[in-house]
Amino acid sequence: MASNYYEILGVSKDAKDEEIKAAYRSLAKKYHPDLYSTKSEAEKKAAEEKFKEINHAYQVLTDPQKRAAYDQYGSEDGPQFTGGAGGGFSGFDGFGDIFSNIFSSFGGRRTANPNAPRRGDDILLRVAISFFESVRGVHKDLNYKRRETCSTCGGSGAKKGSVAKNCSRCGGTGTVRVKQNSLFGQIVTESVCPDCKGKGKIITDVCKDCSGTGFILKQRVLSCDIIAGMSDGRTMIYRGQGNAGENGGPSGDIQVEVTVRSHPLYNRRENDLYIEMPIPFAIATLGGEVDVPTPYGPYKYKIPEGTQTGQVFKIKGKGMKYIRKEVYGDLYVTVKVVTPTKLTKAQKESLSTFAQSISSGQQESIRKFYDSAKE
Ligand SMILES: [Zn+2]
Ligand SMILES: [Zn+2]
Repeated sequence: MASNYYEILGVSKDAKDEEIKAAYRSLAKKYHPDLYSTKSEAEKKAAEEKFKEINHAYQVLTDPQKRAAYDQYGSEDGPQFTGGAGGGFSGFDGFGDIFSNIFSSFGGRRTANPNAPRRGDDILLRVAISFFESVRGVHKDLNYKRRETCSTCGGSGAKKGSVAKNCSRCGGTGTVRVKQNSLFGQIVTESVCPDCKGKGKIITDVCKDCSGTGFILKQRVLSCDIIAGMSDGRTMIYRGQGNAGENGGPSGDIQVEVTVRSHPLYNRRENDLYIEMPIPFAIATLGGEVDVPTPYGPYKYKIPEGTQTGQVFKIKGKGMKYIRKEVYGDLYVTVKVVTPTKLTKAQKESLSTFAQSISSGQQESIRKFYDSAKE
């Protein structure tokens, strides 16, 4: 930057703010980069440099602190911090009346108020149960950790008997306004106060139990009753049992996601169950009683004479229980006729004799099969 800010703006050392503003306005209009867009690169560059200089001089001389420092030390060195978390453009000082149309597109982005009540986070717990546990329902104790308000300090983070002081840097507001230089002049950004992290208060005597955070992580046990009929992937919600909220906000929830392990025999669809059941060749042929395994114990079922592989029988009320209803789904049994193996000579002979006695009308599906193959 050039040597003397007063010279740059063409004002005297004791110029009043109004004079400085007026001088700045006329110079900024003269050197504004927009006016040089059609000029040569060298001219553009020169105007840009000049424009920067003007803006910088204006920014220093209209800030009482910086101007005083500059008058005294020849440098405006002041506290500056840039790029801090949460900073956003919130406005422009000084020449908004002239160039507001140029800058309006910069917009404003405000950070969330760190002192607003915030709901605590939810906790997700997963529990795997067996198929039979899902049939009968089961009780599980689930261990988990959650964030709770520190009972020693009541969440303030300050040691008992001590009080948090108002933050002197931000005066208790939690935000600080920082002036920054830009190509087009001074920008005022508002950011979270770095001293108090936006709380507005500073704790000098910290609560030992929570290290000043106001929260502690506690090991808890959730007594979880998984009701009969629970299906895979279903979630149970325990309201308000999750992590503690902040600034008086409510606690989050606990979500328990239930996984039901698959079973080699039973397949569930909605509230019905499906099994495939092998039955002896003789029972399929002659009919007879079989024991159908259900989740509630064996169930005697009368297989009708002439039953074929693939035939499905429905056993009412032996499926899954509906949640919170005394209603049950059904059990569907798909039959598979078993061909006997390792027959003795005598058995083979008698079966052979039997086979010769069979007429085509007694094996309808075989006759139909060959008929369908014809042209
Ligand atoms: Zn505490
Ligand atoms: Zn502060």
